[in-house]
Amino acid sequence: MGICIDKEYPGGNIEVLSEDEDGFTLKQELRDTEGDWFYWNFRVKGAAGRTVSFRFLSDVMGYWGPGVSNDGIRWQYRPERGAHDHRSFTYKFDPDENETYFSMALPYQLSRFRLFADGIKAAYGDIVRESVLDVTPEGRKVPLIVADNGADRDITLSCRHHCCESVASYVLEGCFGYMLSHRDDFSRFNIHMLPFVDLDGAENGDQGKNRRPHDHNRDYIDRPVYSVIRRWKEYLAGLHVSAFCDFHDPWLYGYDHDYSSLVINAAKVADTERFSRIYRDVTRERAGGIPHTAGHDIYPGQDFNKGDGRKRSASSYGADIGAEHVFSLETPYFGRDFTVTEKGLREYGEDFARSLAILLGKDSD
Ligand SMILES: [Zn+2]
Repeated sequence: MGICIDKEYPGGNIEVLSEDEDGFTLKQELRDTEGDWFYWNFRVKGAAGRTVSFRFLSDVMGYWGPGVSNDGIRWQYRPERGAHDHRSFTYKFDPDENETYFSMALPYQLSRFRLFADGIKAAYGDIVRESVLDVTPEGRKVPLIVADNGADRDITLSCRHHCCESVASYVLEGCFGYMLSHRDDFSRFNIHMLPFVDLDGAENGDQGKNRRPHDHNRDYIDRPVYSVIRRWKEYLAGLHVSAFCDFHDPWLYGYDHDYSSLVINAAKVADTERFSRIYRDVTRERAGGIPHTAGHDIYPGQDFNKGDGRKRSASSYGADIGAEHVFSLETPYFGRDFTVTEKGLREYGEDFARSLAILLGKDSD
């Protein structure tokens, strides 16, 4: 067809199985994933003015077709550009659209984080500093951002324990940005943000979920196999953590996975229910935003929130080190009764931070 598909850029992941006059049959690369997962991300060149179909072998998309980008940095769902179901889509390329990126959701790479980090360092240079928590096996520097209020208590924010869960990164941006722009509400805390736990995985376009022998969110064991988890555990040991917050995305779509949910730690049920209600009320105030209903939280023993594996997760470790509040937030990739956009995700992260300020304010009463 004269159309070129490639994955040679950060986050790229695709295998081209075959090509015909209509388009392509594709498969996501599982790499070292145990079982199946659904992340993919590829670039198309040379399709300007044409309508092309892309077909997968299994369900790998949500309700709005693929995430689409023309620069690999800014993404949105573009359902108006062609037909789609959960395993195929057609896309009508504009006459001058020579390079287009497609993904199962809205990717978020290190380059995108740099734009955010540089912005907050410029705006809040008096308290924000960046350091390197770890150097990855492939030589990448794992960024750690701290808003240092000179406080004796801490809030931690972590993301990408499962590297494909990129939609959560936009929520993290909104959350941390709110904490800086409302710094009086958080002045009793230092805030520590680890935006890419599995940085190599994120940049290489791995799934990361159920990575063999176990993934990063099951590595909170006595002798972690990933150096970044060793470093993060050492770092956390030096803090007095009030709120331990870990950001994720759930399964592809369906049931609770279409809604915002908190995965409730068994030791923190009542506290998480309290926070969940605050978050529900805060998101209700934002017309057209991503709602947290508090009706889709995952209780201990329910769905994937059970079994020995949970004892080795980041949030369980947060409880072990004595954090008063431990929250693991699952942000839907697509949403059922609302639309997921970059802006909406950031605002939903802002609402999370505002809810936390309300909760922590009550703590001090
Ligand atoms: Zn996850």
